[in-house]
Amino acid sequence: MHPNLWYPYTQAKTAPDPIEVKSAQGLWLELADGRKIADCISSWWVNLHGHAHPQIVEAIARQAAQLEHVIFAGFTHAPAQELASKLVARLPENLTRVFYSDNGSTAVEVALKMAYQHWVNIGTPRGRFMSFEGAYHGDMFGTMAVGTRSIFSDVFKDLLFEVDFCPYPDTYEGDLQVLEREANCLKLIRQNLLLHPNDYAGIIIEPLVQGVAGMRICRPEFLQQLRELAIEFDTFLIFDEVMTGFGRTGADFACNKAQVQPDLICLSKGITGGFLPLAVTIATDRIYDSFYSDDPTKTLYHGHSYTANPLGCAAALASLDLLSKNEPVYTNMEIWHRQHLATLAAKYPQLSRFRVMGTISAFDVNNSEKSGYLNNVGREIRHHAIAHGVLLRPLGNVLYLMPPYCITKNELDWVYQQIDRVLEDVIDRS
Ligand SMILES: *Cc1c(COP(=O)(O)O)cnc(C)c1O
Repeated sequence: MHPNLWYPYTQAKTAPDPIEVKSAQGLWLELADGRKIADCISSWWVNLHGHAHPQIVEAIARQAAQLEHVIFAGFTHAPAQELASKLVARLPENLTRVFYSDNGSTAVEVALKMAYQHWVNIGTPRGRFMSFEGAYHGDMFGTMAVGTRSIFSDVFKDLLFEVDFCPYPDTYEGDLQVLEREANCLKLIRQNLLLHPNDYAGIIIEPLVQGVAGMRICRPEFLQQLRELAIEFDTFLIFDEVMTGFGRTGADFACNKAQVQPDLICLSKGITGGFLPLAVTIATDRIYDSFYSDDPTKTLYHGHSYTANPLGCAAALASLDLLSKNEPVYTNMEIWHRQHLATLAAKYPQLSRFRVMGTISAFDVNNSEKSGYLNNVGREIRHHAIAHGVLLRPLGNVLYLMPPYCITKNELDWVYQQIDRVLEDVIDRS
């Protein structure tokens, strides 16, 4: 370990030394020792089109030479305007007002503030939020509060505002109980709304896939019913698409795939193709209009030094361009994943709950330990995967793939072969 570095989510005392990466190209990371490994998790879900994509490289270089950054209060610039228009054009028509920031947690924090202040601004304050068990929305105080209480946030729990959590009706291949689970969940949500009819500022959810919880997938039909409930009780529906945005679910956005119009959407991670930190929170006119006033107290007093960084916006514009060109890849990857999961399912009885959503595939690896983030099988898989040339980072005992869209069919076949070898190493088949 370097004497001056403190790594994220890392217990320095017990963690193995971090692996030094020298360069990267497409799917591949080149390590300092010369080995090459396939980045099967898109470097923490940010990379979309492969590493060092020349089109994004060029867009950033061009923008850097022209305008690298400028204050975004009282000033504006073409990349921010163009990106806002292009995002709005791809999203449901009710989402019209784009607020820039620079990471996923902040995008969510801003959405929570917008939802909360909206009700204050119109003179009927509301103090509650509803969220889902297993939810992850970021590592800041507001976003931790709407996230499930976990090892990540436990130490801070006394500082977090109270949130009502409902079960997330996650499902998988061959699940026969999903309708019942959804009905129970919707019943609980309705009960909460009935109990506190004018108290909910909003309901926040990771639509279609809960990422950190272990790639837990829900059905579009559930989101549609949730939308109906939010309309019936007139509260805001917030979609945290920080991970699911930009093609991950097999459609450009989960809200489009589910045909649901949220009131607020949070985007980050893939927005720049994985090159630069950038985020947006996009709101409806209804929300925006409640801030639009001669009264200064109705202003959204929130901003960041790097708001709408032109380099990030230029990267995002280039990435959006590539997203249109790569559409067949992210819409068709689901078929490839399913074929390979079927092969693994037939070979390993220790694997269960197979699930696929667009470019994401996942399953549980069962051992004698309890399921969850601290299950050791994940760490073992990570270690063996590197030896087989693949970067995998299971979430506890959930092994998942989320490759960049540049991956070829041959490369994906090879990746699954390596997964098979890793599983042979770590699974006790006696
Ligand atoms: C990663 C993630 C966040 C937090 O984004 P950061 O950029 O890491 O702060 C929030 N919500 C979801 C759904 C995420 O996957």
